[in-house]
Amino acid sequence: MMREWLPLQDDFQHAILSLEGRGTDDSCTSCQATNAGKYRCEDCYHSGLLCQECCVAYHARHPFHSIRQWTGKYFQSVALQALGFVLHFGHGGSPCPAYDHRYDNSGREFTVVDVDGVYTHRVAWCECTNGPERWKQLLQAKLYPASIQYPKTAFTFRQLQYYGIDTLECGVTASSFMTKLRRLTNLHHPETVAVCSICLLVEFRQCYLPLIHRIEAGSWEESHGNGTTWRPSAHLVLLMTQIEHLVLVIWHGFA
Ligand SMILES: [Zn+2]
Ligand SMILES: [Zn+2]
Ligand SMILES: [Zn+2]
Repeated sequence: MMREWLPLQDDFQHAILSLEGRGTDDSCTSCQATNAGKYRCEDCYHSGLLCQECCVAYHARHPFHSIRQWTGKYFQSVALQALGFVLHFGHGGSPCPAYDHRYDNSGREFTVVDVDGVYTHRVAWCECTNGPERWKQLLQAKLYPASIQYPKTAFTFRQLQYYGIDTLECGVTASSFMTKLRRLTNLHHPETVAVCSICLLVEFRQCYLPLIHRIEAGSWEESHGNGTTWRPSAHLVLLMTQIEHLVLVIWHGFA
């Protein structure tokens, strides 16, 4: 491999560095609007330049992606909420019919901790008369709330799982894990990202322990109303058991 690569070293570097530029075509790769391609997603596969509207529309189902904005000389990080993005809860992520869009630009900010960073979004809750409570709307979106009545922070389920594996396999503490997330969110000023590692431990313990106990007791069986039932897979049971051991070790060490 090394012998093959050495003559191509400059070409490799050029190919990688060219990804940092905007290229010669500045039109939106989605709607083809000319001179409008100012945004690029670092997480979408083969993401080309997008205009503001297409970038916001694309990320309705991928709200925890890192967006870059072209400044004229280079790409810099920009939050989706700065482009007018609103994260909707309830109704499968679509806007609630009872939601008043006049609130789109109000200050309802919400923090979500995901595997590769901390994201702040403006949010719109389901406001239907008999709609679910906010904590339930979050769980439906696979987000674990940090508080019950007026949640302002949540952890993605995959982040809790990722943290469990990281701790189990690499011996990472909650504090180190959050330090890494802060650095991933803001490489140069991680201290500006305010998320608490104690909060992570509480969520992790609260979320997973009762689930593990129910699974181990064999009392978890979800009825689908059509005569069929769902039970957790062997893989999930194994993972939960590993995580339980880990959580108990962390929790007793921490308390
Ligand atoms: Zn467009
Ligand atoms: Zn994306
Ligand atoms: Zn609703």
